[in-house]
Amino acid sequence: MIALKGAQVSAAIKEQAEQEIKKLKGKVPCLAIVRVGERPDDLSYERGAKKKLESFGLESRSFVFPETIENESFQKEFKAINENPEIDGILLLRPLPRHLDEKAIEKIIDPQKDVDGISPENIAKVFAGDETGFAPCTAEAVIQMLKVNQIPIAGKRVTVVGRSMVVGKPLAMLFLKENATVTICHTKTENLNETCKNAQILAAAAGKAKMLNQDAVGEGAIVLDVGINVDENGKLCGDVDFESIGDKAAMATPVPGGVGAVTTAVLALHLVRAALSRMD
Ligand code: NDP
Repeated sequence: MIALKGAQVSAAIKEQAEQEIKKLKGKVPCLAIVRVGERPDDLSYERGAKKKLESFGLESRSFVFPETIENESFQKEFKAINENPEIDGILLLRPLPRHLDEKAIEKIIDPQKDVDGISPENIAKVFAGDETGFAPCTAEAVIQMLKVNQIPIAGKRVTVVGRSMVVGKPLAMLFLKENATVTICHTKTENLNETCKNAQILAAAAGKAKMLNQDAVGEGAIVLDVGINVDENGKLCGDVDFESIGDKAAMATPVPGGVGAVTTAVLALHLVRAALSRMD
């Protein structure tokens, strides 16, 4: 089995971004990272995103609010960031604390600055197969992982495990746009292993440590693991038991070092495109 590493795909995306940065005539795009509270997952993603943006020559600014912030105040603060002309793109770290209305923020965010594809306009475009908006970065990272490695998608049987609006559903739509034959699995799916085993490309986005093993992987399958979990020993792992599928899969992404590394590269590329669109 070949390990599909994120670093090489991220480097290819960087090259693409560098071409587009030239059109910005010296302007350096700036991402606002909006965080409420100090969740370790958010802090880790924020660190990774900042590092990646810096390596692309892009700027980021963190806007951090206490977990106790009231809904009305948060919306006011968010609107100010949204309207700030120095900000080209916004990444909202989610989920927000329950008392904050996430749906309202999705409607407030300017679709042109919505580099992680959370606004109704950008989501609708993903579902319509319209590439003029921003798709959620993780979903697009999976597609980039395949494209940069020149793995054909059209006509292939693809199974996506997970149907969240953050990953599973948009990813299924992006696969459909690439002319794959798509199956979506979730907690009510019967015979999950059989359905997964039938796939030529299997994408796991369930958020359950090592839930898929060799019994869920067909001979020669390409496995993309989106999951970021912690195993019983406190180690980072994916939704797929990477070690167990070595004799079945043709290629698979490791965790860490797989899809996650590409997600932040896609975020950086989106930021460049957001800045370009604001120059028009
Ligand atoms: P959610 O919890 O929102 O959704 C999980 C989905 O998986 C649900 O649709 C759920 O089904 C399904 N699911 C859960 N357990 C099972 C099971 N046992 N069998 C079949 N389906 C199952 O998670 P997210 O979509 O937000 O994230 C998924 C994973 O991706 C997480 O590990 C997260 O950390 C990771 N992630 C990684 C990113 C990256 O950059 N690599 C970025 C974002 C997320 P149902 O709808 O029926 O409940």
